[in-house]
Amino acid sequence: MYMDHSATSPVDPEVFEAMKPYFTNEFGNASTLYSLGRNAKNAMEAARQEVATIIGADTKEIIFTSGGTESDNIAILGTARKLKNKGNHIITSDIEHPAVEETCKYLEKNGYKVTYLPVYEEGIVRVKDLEAAITDETILITIMHANNEIGTIQPIAEIGKIANERGIYFHTDAVQTVGKIPVNVSEMNVDMLSLSSHKLYGPKGIGALYIKKGVRIEPLMYGGGHERGFRPGTENIPGIVGLGKACSIASQNLESNARKLTNLRDKLIDAVLEQNKDSYLNGHRTKRLPNNANFRFDAIEGESLILNLDFKGIAASTGSACSSTKLEASHVLLAIGLEKEEAHGSLRISLGIENTEEDIDYTVTAIKEVVEKLRKMSPLWCGAV
Ligand SMILES: *Cc1c(COP(=O)(O)O)cnc(C)c1O
Repeated sequence: MYMDHSATSPVDPEVFEAMKPYFTNEFGNASTLYSLGRNAKNAMEAARQEVATIIGADTKEIIFTSGGTESDNIAILGTARKLKNKGNHIITSDIEHPAVEETCKYLEKNGYKVTYLPVYEEGIVRVKDLEAAITDETILITIMHANNEIGTIQPIAEIGKIANERGIYFHTDAVQTVGKIPVNVSEMNVDMLSLSSHKLYGPKGIGALYIKKGVRIEPLMYGGGHERGFRPGTENIPGIVGLGKACSIASQNLESNARKLTNLRDKLIDAVLEQNKDSYLNGHRTKRLPNNANFRFDAIEGESLILNLDFKGIAASTGSACSSTKLEASHVLLAIGLEKEEAHGSLRISLGIENTEEDIDYTVTAIKEVVEKLRKMSPLWCGAV
């Protein structure tokens, strides 16, 4: 039972079918002039249209990249390098994905100043903190649309409005939201937006960066001038076709999927909190992704929880996939005010469109059984189970 869609999602069979010909017969290089190359180019441009459509952009504003990490890096480093004579200050949040967080830390080591906005107990940045942080040196604001661990949704449109008024570039990492909730670059007032295919039932290793018309940033790589010079290198046509197909399927079913997932999520949250003593939900109750629930349980260690759920056939996470190999507590859970021990006892369930009501029932029972078992064994647990 797969319940870790924030880490990655399965490829939709329709997406896989659409990709297949571009590995075999239609293998052309999109930069060549004969029909084989033109077919590849046409498929790529059709996919670009699908990606543009799902975020309300123009096709000329879409650059294909290798995924969310690369898109974040191009946006942040590209802005820092382009505007280094204008200012050296960047504003971000305490709960960014490592692709943003580590990039900002790298810039800090190289002469830039970075302000990390707090997110408080509910896991959401406050616009007044942002306003207070802006200086004449601020060249970039980068704040994620929804968090990958606790699912909280940030006030992107309001932040973007302030950024626009102050003439500061605004980037958002929307990897967790594109295909799950409505994303529109003009309504959200963003200058740059990152998305990734494998979080929306497309293949891994492909993503896109939206760069609004008129926004000037430096490329990170140099080569044959592909993707308007922002991302040189022969294009990954099967991946691009897969991303395009995934976007088109997600666009068609956005509302019904969001409704279905929200119902499943709420059923899960209510049942887990009700059936387990001293259990809590991390992050705002409703301003969160339709598919995200993040719990913590007193006196329970996250890793044991995950392994015991795995024995019962459930794939879920503690922290995020990116931080689970490190022993440090999640920076996101610390940012919402948890103690280290509390942060270590968290469980992230991220649902997908293939999950059913029965899956939720099974998971609720499994969590209850595992929590009781672990508490019986735990020296930290004094209460009754
Ligand atoms: C998964 C994820 C990324 C990284 O995307 P990749 O395509 O795996 O590089 C970046 N940001 C967020 C919020 C993510 O969830």
